[in-house]
Amino acid sequence: MIDAPKADTRGSAGARQRHAVVVGASVAGLLTARVLAGFVDRVTIVERDRLPEGPEPRSGVPQSRHPHVLLEGGQDALDVLLPGFMDELRAAGAPRVGLPADVVQWQDGRWLRRLPASAYIYSGSRVQLEHLVRRRVLADQSITVIEGAQVTGLSGDASRVCGVLLGKRGDGTGRAARHLAADLVVDASGRGTKAGQWLSALGAEGAPEEVIDAGLAYATRIYRDPSAALGTDFLGFYVIMNPRQLYGGLLLPMEDGRYTATLAGLRGDQPPTDQDEFVAYAKKLPHPFVHQWLSTAEPLSPVFGFRQTANVRRRYDLPGRRPAGFLAIGDALCTFNPVYGQGVSVAAMSAVALRDALADPRRTPTTRRVQRALLAVSRQAWDISAVTDKAMPGATGNALAPRAVDRATGWYLRRIQERYPGDPVVGEAFRAVLTLTSPVTALFAPKVVRAVLRPALAAPVDPPMVPEGSPGT
Ligand SMILES: Cc1cc2nc3c(=O)[nH]c(=O)nc-3n(C[C@H](O)[C@H](O)[C@H](O)COP(=O)(O)OP(=O)(O)OC[C@H]3O[C@@H](n4cnc5c(N)ncnc54)[C@H](O)[C@@H]3O)c2cc1C
Repeated sequence: MIDAPKADTRGSAGARQRHAVVVGASVAGLLTARVLAGFVDRVTIVERDRLPEGPEPRSGVPQSRHPHVLLEGGQDALDVLLPGFMDELRAAGAPRVGLPADVVQWQDGRWLRRLPASAYIYSGSRVQLEHLVRRRVLADQSITVIEGAQVTGLSGDASRVCGVLLGKRGDGTGRAARHLAADLVVDASGRGTKAGQWLSALGAEGAPEEVIDAGLAYATRIYRDPSAALGTDFLGFYVIMNPRQLYGGLLLPMEDGRYTATLAGLRGDQPPTDQDEFVAYAKKLPHPFVHQWLSTAEPLSPVFGFRQTANVRRRYDLPGRRPAGFLAIGDALCTFNPVYGQGVSVAAMSAVALRDALADPRRTPTTRRVQRALLAVSRQAWDISAVTDKAMPGATGNALAPRAVDRATGWYLRRIQERYPGDPVVGEAFRAVLTLTSPVTALFAPKVVRAVLRPALAAPVDPPMVPEGSPGT
């Protein structure tokens, strides 16, 4: 157990059971519980929602109405944590989408060449993914869930956390109904975490927050496509936002032949949730395909909006008076602008890092050391989303100042983005970084550097509706 007194060692005669509490039964909380079950006697997850039996939305995870792509880094981590998980996801119908071949993409004023796929994402529904994770994790008898209960604070003092305080859902009084003792508490309560307040109440310090908010807002609706305009030559259509393209659009397949359609814009000119206005908003995109598709496809849901998309990183690694026995993981540690599709993958990769840090025979897993390892996992995803968002017009936050490393690599990265739509070598390397399977340093491999430095290849001027290498191309 992290920072535990020696008397608590597992297996010693008469030792009490070691107990970990995880706050939140979403993806990060469930995967964390899975890992902790290998190191303690009992794990209790506290979840403020009542959990559905099947793949259904719930109020604690409002983002589940929006598309959730699963990157390759996350796929690998899920298979490590829950062997065979990706087979289950495929069997449940989650579409596998090859990049760049299967998606028509517009980026930075150009269409990406539809070269053979070098990376694959899964685009099934978020509720299905969470349901499958939940079913696997909760089959473990040493993991229990307290549903419909809200963690309202921590017990212990500024040097050590000893458990959590539980209130009933919606109990805004802050009165604790119950104390749940624990040797370790892990906050997986998501982007709205109250951990800063909980730590202050103990006399400890919350983590300093870095914030970069591009002001992006989403609206999503689910459709069926009777015209089969999607699904034949290409599976999805994506207009990528950047400082020169302030409107985004994404059509992606889900299970059961359904599609999610998401429109994105900046606050002040955000996509509407009114059904007719939602369709009309798609006219702002640089190509009419999405508008035409929305005008003929069959809607299956209302339009759902989402506006809290800031990147927020809680720097538990910085010096401060913080107690042993308390960790943060998932969105409670580092929240990304969802447009980059990283959160679930980073949550899964963080759970693998937690396992490795706890199992490392060379180092005592102190709270600080483990927390640093968790933060390190999110660094690449943070650099992708936060650094890109800094450049958006009107971006706000306290982490906007360019770092020396941004300045030094800025020219090179801009050049990569210019080459990415048309160059197969740059495209493959950059995609591997974006899907979290290669480190950023892979962009500096000699063959990538050579491709970056040579003159740009022409990118298509019309949407490439048929992938390269198909008959007739
Ligand atoms: C619009 C949108 C689109 C996204 N798209 C993608 C995508 O394409 N790909 C991707 O990988 N990620 C995406 N994400 C991110 C992804 O949803 C999260 O990263 C992922 O759910 C992991 O989050 P989490 O488990 O840390 O927290 P959450 O999923 O937010 O879950 C937190 C849980 O804690 C519970 N809880 C909160 N407070 C308490 C409390 N006090 N006591 C008890 N329980 C509590 C909540 O009810 C909830 O169950 C998207 C996010 C948004 C907002």
